[in-house]
Amino acid sequence: MEWVQDRHQQFVQGGFNLEGRVRRALKRIEEKSSLHAFTRVYTEEAIEKARKLQRQRDRGETLGPLAGLILAIKDNIAFRNHPLTCGSRILQHYISPFHATVVQRILNAGGIIIGHTNMDEFAMGSSSETSVFGVVRNPLHPEFVAGGSSGGSAVSVAAEIVDLALGSDTGGSVRQPAAFCGVVGMKPSYGRVSRYGLVAFASSLEQIGPLGQRVRDVAYLLEIIAGHDSRDATSVTLPVPRYTQWLNRDVRGMRMGLPREFLDQAVEGRIRQRVEEVAEELHRAGAEIVPVSLSLTRYAVATYYILASAEASSNLARFDGVRYGFRAENSADPQSMYRKTRQQGFGWEVKRRLMLGTYVLSRKNYQAFYGKARKVQKLIQQEYQRVFQQVDVLLAPTSPTFPFRPGERLQDPIKMYLSDVLTVPANLTGMGSLSLPLWGKNEPFPVGLQIISAPFREELLIQVGDFVERNLAGESPLSK
Ligand code: GLN
Repeated sequence: MEWVQDRHQQFVQGGFNLEGRVRRALKRIEEKSSLHAFTRVYTEEAIEKARKLQRQRDRGETLGPLAGLILAIKDNIAFRNHPLTCGSRILQHYISPFHATVVQRILNAGGIIIGHTNMDEFAMGSSSETSVFGVVRNPLHPEFVAGGSSGGSAVSVAAEIVDLALGSDTGGSVRQPAAFCGVVGMKPSYGRVSRYGLVAFASSLEQIGPLGQRVRDVAYLLEIIAGHDSRDATSVTLPVPRYTQWLNRDVRGMRMGLPREFLDQAVEGRIRQRVEEVAEELHRAGAEIVPVSLSLTRYAVATYYILASAEASSNLARFDGVRYGFRAENSADPQSMYRKTRQQGFGWEVKRRLMLGTYVLSRKNYQAFYGKARKVQKLIQQEYQRVFQQVDVLLAPTSPTFPFRPGERLQDPIKMYLSDVLTVPANLTGMGSLSLPLWGKNEPFPVGLQIISAPFREELLIQVGDFVERNLAGESPLSK
């Protein structure tokens, strides 16, 4: 099976015409437009860039590691002189004046960014239903949601439109749509990838993360986007491992924890069963499977929604009609202009979070909610640190359920929030986490397997994920 590095090599060796490849991707976007994966497509520019790369190749110039490849980025990642909407009316007509660091790195590496992808408004959601650009559909079965909030990015890979995509993961938004659509997605450890140019939702929890068809594709892109950036004070100075050197290994002697609380009654039987089967197979392949308990997991969702909403209420205060995008008309004074702009510019879910966040930060409630959530976060962190003294990685499902239908959870926020029970712990603790699909015969959807590592041990995610994919994950219906 071909992977992105092979495709890059083929291009470098003159194996294909890149302009033709870009045109096929553009045609595919058209054909798949009912999935609502893209918010904007940069047609002319992508073709121009392809021609330029071809000329460079024909002159024998050295090309970066993404030359020949086509990428899509979530519409909360800044691309200079391009719209940046976060799926929200309030950012309509806003054009970013600068590049996110990850975008700069992709362009330096010779990648072609073909468009921005659709998402839940401001990345708040688990289904990609709340965007002003429409509901994102699951390419495996379009009557189901794609997951969220990076639904469009997952779809752009799963529908075989692009080679690679970027999403953002604050509480599961790369991993859960990857699981729903049958692709691979990673949330890197907090600080591994620069957040400069990512529109902030909950700054202390989120990371930009890669999506691809295979674990090796994700490893390849991570190598390019990871590393210190002086423009993001939370990015770490640790050296970036060569993640692709952790492919094609075995798992003998590795210790893998199976947390009881991630496999309890709230998880659908078929999902639980498949993850347990994979753990057994890994045991047969020489890994040690260690039953572990993470008893505070049940507080993770409540803790996450308090902290994330608090940060959101502060981060989104800047959208007031003065500097960014949309401004409400006919206001008598600045106060009413702010009010009307925010009233008309934000959707329901965003407003709900902003109100919740403002409430938990108010002087009267601060200690009871925000202060307490921070303490619980600390306890959760300590519990995970203890477990990682015993194991190299944790194995768990990514999502407790299979994809649902549009509308099913939209009216019931608690139900929607519970979609994230298994993904938010990695954000609260800064750990790295990978989701990859486990395919079954005659099953409508794959099961998402989540592998979690201690901070800055993504190479273990690549090692184990790649092993599972090659040996235990079943046949992917994707062609490449
Ligand atoms: N579904 C979670 C939320 O709504 C996570 C979103 C995300 O990771 N951006 O907050």
